[in-house]
Amino acid sequence: MDTILVVNAGSSSVKFQLFGVDGTGVLERLIKGQLDGIGTRPRLVAQASDKSPLIDSTYSPDKVPDVPTAITVIAGWLRETQSFSLVAVGHRVVHGGPKYDRPVVIDDVVVANLEQFISLAPLHQPNNLAPIRALLTGRPELLQVACFDTAFHRGHSAVADHFAIPARFYAEGVRRYGFHGLSYEYVAQRMREVVPDMAAGRVIVAHLGSGASMCALANGRSVESTMGFTALDGIPMGTRPGQIDPGVVLYLLREKGMSPAAVQDLLYRECGLKGMSGISNDMRDLESSSDPDAALAVDYFVYRIALNAGMLAAALGGLDAFVFTAGIGEHSATIRARVAEKLAWLGVDLDAAANGAQKSLISRPESRVALLIVPTDEELMIAQHTLALLPKRRDGGKAGEEFTG
Ligand code: ADP
Repeated sequence: MDTILVVNAGSSSVKFQLFGVDGTGVLERLIKGQLDGIGTRPRLVAQASDKSPLIDSTYSPDKVPDVPTAITVIAGWLRETQSFSLVAVGHRVVHGGPKYDRPVVIDDVVVANLEQFISLAPLHQPNNLAPIRALLTGRPELLQVACFDTAFHRGHSAVADHFAIPARFYAEGVRRYGFHGLSYEYVAQRMREVVPDMAAGRVIVAHLGSGASMCALANGRSVESTMGFTALDGIPMGTRPGQIDPGVVLYLLREKGMSPAAVQDLLYRECGLKGMSGISNDMRDLESSSDPDAALAVDYFVYRIALNAGMLAAALGGLDAFVFTAGIGEHSATIRARVAEKLAWLGVDLDAAANGAQKSLISRPESRVALLIVPTDEELMIAQHTLALLPKRRDGGKAGEEFTG
């Protein structure tokens, strides 16, 4: 079967999924896996579409020291154990910079362009580019597609795209990009399929995972995001603070004598739910804790979501639907209920039974604003984009090559 490999390379893990493409262009998820603990405790885990385990292997750190090696290990395992023909690879790339407003077929020029954005996303972009370069060298004939977290937000108006700083910084790329775009694009697409009337209205989507942000959609297009120049801004996350007065950063640098690297580490790894609670970055741990600091962290999380909902409703000039997605949004009935309670003034009226039962529509019929749960699927979005950029195949989809890593 012809297949598309989706690769999401992070700082210490490579997540991957394999999708089959049938003759009519329908995608079927075949394998989902990840190699995490790269350089520390590498472990490759994968499961089939029915969730049956396919592999669970650990490696010594020197065997998988970096992302390119992780790709080689994953490719080797796929080649040795699975029989399929690979027609393309779709990559999640965090930053498309000011230019890329849609997915793009990768060549050397695109890679050179994307390298320019490393300074805009130094923690993520190099890891995203590493497997792309490795495959360009090892499999130059293989179609590769880059799908950006920023692209979906590129249509923002000038006022949404700017910080109030001198124009020269905007010109060099210091802009409010927004992230999680693949998730929002998927949710917008899914809403168009299932609830087209709502999809055509004013919608706030709350992507509440370990990373978290919110997006305002007008007729399915992003008009505002809580994230800006980096994925640090907006609402609090597992280990990131969300909105913070830049004066705090100056204080850490000047008064506490912290290095920029130490501040960066603090902001990306030690803040958010973890920093506030002192217990965990995992919402499940905080929800089950009786510690007052855990309670404060959860209160803060809910409060900031509600504050940002007000901001996004202002950007939209009103609100027709509010959508929960990603790990916390899809699974925590408590957080959904608490957010809904704070949004009552906007016309939100939660159906507690539907919320507890994880239904798709969780507002009461008389609610002025519809409340929805839409499970996100960024990998499927990447596979769809990659499929759309495959050259039309004259042989009815039989042109794949055997995967040789
Ligand atoms: P990411 O893809 O950004 O790593 P996810 O979207 O998978 O993150 O979300 C992960 C988070 O979802 C976890 O850290 C956890 O806090 C939260 N989560 C998952 N299941 C539940 C649940 N049943 N109740 C509350 N929180 C949950």
